Amino acid sequence: MAGMTARAKVDPSPGTSSARQGVFRPWRRPAARAILGGSDDDPRGGAQVDFEASPKATEYHGRLQDFMSSHVFPAEAAYQRHREVHWQDNTLPPIVEELKAEAHARGLWNLFLPDVAGLSNVEYAPLAELTGWSMHLAPEAINCAAPDTGNMEVLQLFGSAEQQLRWLTPLLDGEIRSGFAMTEPDVASSDATNIATSIVQDGDDYVINGRKWWTSGAADPRCAVLVVMGKTDPTAPTYRQQSMVLVPMDTAGVELVRTLPVFGYWPQHGHCEITFTDVRVPVGNLIANEGDGFLIAQARLGPGRIHHCMRALGAGERALRLMCERASSRVAFGQPLAAQGVVQQQIAESRMELDQARLMVLKTAWLIDRHGAKGARSEIAAIKVLAPRAALNVIDRAIQVYGGAGVSADTPLAEMWANVRTLRIADGPDEVHVRSVARQELAKLLPTA
Ligand SMILES: Cc1cc2nc3c(=O)[nH]c(=O)nc-3n(C[C@H](O)[C@H](O)[C@H](O)COP(=O)(O)OP(=O)(O)OC[C@H]3O[C@@H](n4cnc5c(N)ncnc54)[C@H](O)[C@@H]3O)c2cc1C
Repeated sequence: MAGMTARAKVDPSPGTSSARQGVFRPWRRPAARAILGGSDDDPRGGAQVDFEASPKATEYHGRLQDFMSSHVFPAEAAYQRHREVHWQDNTLPPIVEELKAEAHARGLWNLFLPDVAGLSNVEYAPLAELTGWSMHLAPEAINCAAPDTGNMEVLQLFGSAEQQLRWLTPLLDGEIRSGFAMTEPDVASSDATNIATSIVQDGDDYVINGRKWWTSGAADPRCAVLVVMGKTDPTAPTYRQQSMVLVPMDTAGVELVRTLPVFGYWPQHGHCEITFTDVRVPVGNLIANEGDGFLIAQARLGPGRIHHCMRALGAGERALRLMCERASSRVAFGQPLAAQGVVQQQIAESRMELDQARLMVLKTAWLIDRHGAKGARSEIAAIKVLAPRAALNVIDRAIQVYGGAGVSADTPLAEMWANVRTLRIADGPDEVHVRSVARQELAKLLPTA
């Protein structure tokens, strides 16, 4: 989720900018050179996880770090100033396209796609973390922002040649944006079998009827297409009922009803409620086959989770940096806050939680690289809980150390908290992922045939 701005009027003046914005050199190394202990009986080789970065990944990391320092952090003030004025509309701050052009020229583009950049998940993960330091700007600047990344992966894996030409090419070029419309207000959507939108074939068309909400990005003026999930056959076995179709935003019957605020913030790209009334698209807009909706959704999950989690940890790192800065400079009761044991504990807990979560995310990335998303199902579910939780804890502690300033708009912390808090719900709530981990753990006790 990028580009949120506060409903309240905030002071965009850069007066205290560098400390206020927390725009420092990210200190992360390209990747941990670690051999991790895992359980010896894990057939996936858990005892030999190796995160050593390749020269290529190290080189990309250096270039991205340089781009962050020289362009992205300095651009935050201009972005914020635009959003202050346009806090409830979805116009695009011009600085975004300027950053994209610069990133493109530097070869920092579509790094998330192995076929484009040649980076594995383990290699891309630290880059995603760097972009998390500036969530509104950096992921989009290098054309690695959700939901486009997931949609591009879907089109690359399952799209027909025609679909790829029409939608994947302009997405890869950063010329258009896209949305993913699954969640519905009328059903508990954390159980995707509930999704009720109907997709019915009529001659050479599919006719779509339904109501979606929380379709991220659909209000962005550049959003040209939606991937819509719905039922093509309600009588089929449960996991074969759903399909995905491509729906151009300007199709008759697609109505953007409203955008939804998040804790009073209005993201630039908009989280939208959308109705589909007798919407007709050609049968050629079906992605893969009828009934493949769950299959596609599963394939979309693995790498996307790594990206989200690492970005969240990047936000957590920025919050920790801010916390340390503030604790070192703010004096209370005759000494810097950093001299208080309780504050030191908050700093230490934060460092430990972030590092723990990162190791788990990297392990998951390593497993996906070796065994595909299927071979890392439990870990993919686990990191979806662990990483946002760790980042959120750290941001919350940083807010506390900042006192009143922490909940104001004078630091990025309040907005970061709102942003990261949604990750405990978006893309499936914590409880569903915890359930998945538990079920896979319990399944180990079942006798094998
Ligand atoms: C900022 C944001 C962006 C989003 N972007 C998108 C998007 O681009 N596209 C899209 O399709 N959707 C998007 N979503 C929607 C999101 O994926 C759903 O909100 C989420 O999957 C939960 O579905 P729901 O809201 O229907 O909650 P429900 O299914 O009604 O669940 C409500 C609560 O019930 C509890 N619960 C559910 N299942 C269990 C269980 N098995 N055990 C215990 N407790 C349980 C959980 O506490 C859960 O939070 C976004 C949401 C947010 C907040």
